[in-house]
Amino acid sequence: MSDPSPSAPTREGARLIDGTALAKRIRAEVAADVAALRLRGVTPGLAVVLVGDDPASGVYVGAKERASREAGMAGDTIRLPANASQSELLALVERLNRDERVHGILVQMPLPAQIDPDTVIRHIRPDKDVDGFHPVNVGKLLIGHTDGFVPCTPAGVQRMLVEHGVATRGAECVVIGRSTIVGKPMAALLMQAGAGADATVTICHSRTRDLASHTRRADILIVAAGRPRMVTADMVKPGAVVIDVGMNRIADATTASGTRLVGDVDFEGVRLVASLITPVPGGVGPMTIAMLLHNTVRAARRTLDA
Ligand code: NDP
Repeated sequence: MSDPSPSAPTREGARLIDGTALAKRIRAEVAADVAALRLRGVTPGLAVVLVGDDPASGVYVGAKERASREAGMAGDTIRLPANASQSELLALVERLNRDERVHGILVQMPLPAQIDPDTVIRHIRPDKDVDGFHPVNVGKLLIGHTDGFVPCTPAGVQRMLVEHGVATRGAECVVIGRSTIVGKPMAALLMQAGAGADATVTICHSRTRDLASHTRRADILIVAAGRPRMVTADMVKPGAVVIDVGMNRIADATTASGTRLVGDVDFEGVRLVASLITPVPGGVGPMTIAMLLHNTVRAARRTLDA
């Protein structure tokens, strides 16, 4: 079976949300903003820190560096060995905090076992925390203050909903997953008052009783569980908007690599029930990097406004 093409309409059922095309548009907007900032003497700078040699993290970090350079930013990856100590990493973060050329700092997760991720996140200056994971930014999101940074994946999902004219106000929105990276900030965004929000939000997780009874109520179903194709057609309300954040690599003997990327949603079945759906790949994934660039430009612009 081939991957779904985000540009082609499905044979029947749901329309596809083309995350690749939308991300491309956002990246072009970011590049224009970068050019304008450079004329004013500021080149937005994104510093990505990678500790160790996890291959998947290496791929993500490479993609972020490439994307930031393509947008005209100063994108730099700083690598530390897998046995780096927590104090070495904290010293690096402090240096980046002080460096005026660096507007955004991202420490790629997961970190080796000897380093506590929360301690590292707390050391990043909140106004350079373009991942939106620092407690100050998490708190601002929950309060509804708009001057913080929103985590990139949920920000990308909200942007997709807005761009596709999905009515969120008063909608029943069910989020599967309660991680600090996706589920919780996603729910916090959608429950806020205002455009692209004002939803009635339910968060489900591994302890939720009768998951399907919740998902079947959803006008908008957002799935971030990390469980390949766990959401099946019978769990989805006809006409629902389904956003699949999941990225799971499964074995597939028919591909050259022997693996294939699938989401948390059984795409083939659910697209026959839903009205709008994101494919995997080509859905939420590309939006995450686009929103990271967007956050970095915001961080750089603030230094002019300060
Ligand atoms: P986590 O593992 O941190 O969180 C998964 C959440 O799903 C947990 O809250 C867990 O519940 C819940 N969950 C797991 N199994 C079930 C189940 N059977 N029923 C209901 N809830 C369940 O993952 P992340 O949030 O970091 O990521 C989720 C997925 O999204 C992954 O596939 C990841 O690769 C992908 N992802 C994609 C991104 C993108 O750019 N497209 C970015 C980030 C993530 P509990 O808390 O009880 O354990």
